[in-house]
Amino acid sequence: MIIVLKKSATDKEIEHITEKIKSLGLAVHLSKGQERTLIGAIGDESLLSGTSLEALPGVDKVMPILKPYKMVSREFKSEPTVIEVGGSSIGSSQVQVIAGPCSVETEKQMLECARLVKAGGASFLRGGAFKPRTSPYAFQGLGEEGLKFLAHAREETGLPVVTELMDPRDTELICEYADIIQIGTRNMQNFRLLTEVGKVRKPVLLKRGLSATIKEFLMSAEYIASQGNTDIILCERGIRTFETSTRNTLDLTAVPVLKQETHLPVFIDPSHAAGRWDYVAPLSKASVAIGADGLIIEVHNDPENALCDGAQSLKPKCFDVLITELKPIAEAIGRGI
Ligand code: PEP
Ligand code: MN
Repeated sequence: MIIVLKKSATDKEIEHITEKIKSLGLAVHLSKGQERTLIGAIGDESLLSGTSLEALPGVDKVMPILKPYKMVSREFKSEPTVIEVGGSSIGSSQVQVIAGPCSVETEKQMLECARLVKAGGASFLRGGAFKPRTSPYAFQGLGEEGLKFLAHAREETGLPVVTELMDPRDTELICEYADIIQIGTRNMQNFRLLTEVGKVRKPVLLKRGLSATIKEFLMSAEYIASQGNTDIILCERGIRTFETSTRNTLDLTAVPVLKQETHLPVFIDPSHAAGRWDYVAPLSKASVAIGADGLIIEVHNDPENALCDGAQSLKPKCFDVLITELKPIAEAIGRGI
């Protein structure tokens, strides 16, 4: 429910309305705009039946949020969410690029990749220390040692770090090292995990589930937001279809649909969508052209010997060329990269 206040509403009246909503068992989200103040009553709206909020002093009108996702919906907040991380604005007119290897393998590899992607124009460094692998016999990641290598690479380059959290028990550990917490595709509907990251004060990059609808995707974002953390970046990374010529099918339409439905920034991961390095550049160009707020791209200093996802990883030289080629596309739609 959105409660629109009168322009003349006093602090005392706002406090009274807030207390009333809380006493009915709903959470309150206050948004003070230049023109109007809005109060979001978040939770089970049936608890409000029998109470006439319109009658409270200071209230102009009460509007139900019709979508099942409330806090992340455009109905709730019309202006786009901009997330500030390490001097970069995510969701602004600047298209942001996260780049780096699929997995942290060695300290040397991580430092080299970090320097190379920074030189190529990335503003964030990626690297998984906890890897969700299909096979239990495949490389599972270095764990905390990998997080230390990421922290060292950040120290050397100044690039903020994006890394995946797979298990609620590792939340504190990941928070010590990560600037942005990645929730992977396979965990998009791990509701305990979503609830945990909803309680922390770090931005979350939420990847779309392998076969999740946009509504399900947004409901997962709502899980995070409902706990208080609204710094959420949505990431389309390809969905599973009948097509087998690529690893997944990149759903580019997700960008305009999400832009309409939510105020959250939307990224594209062309690497996991394609599964092949040679499709990464065209998919990246299309992503920028269609209005994605950022890209997360796998780049490896030695893809042939990568422990994970080498086939879809760009060599640093290709990454440099790609960023150069993306610039005029971003400019054509009034953005920078
Ligand atoms: C990754 O980013 O390396 C990854 C495992 O991605 P996804 O969860 O999209 O498969
Ligand atoms: Mn990967």
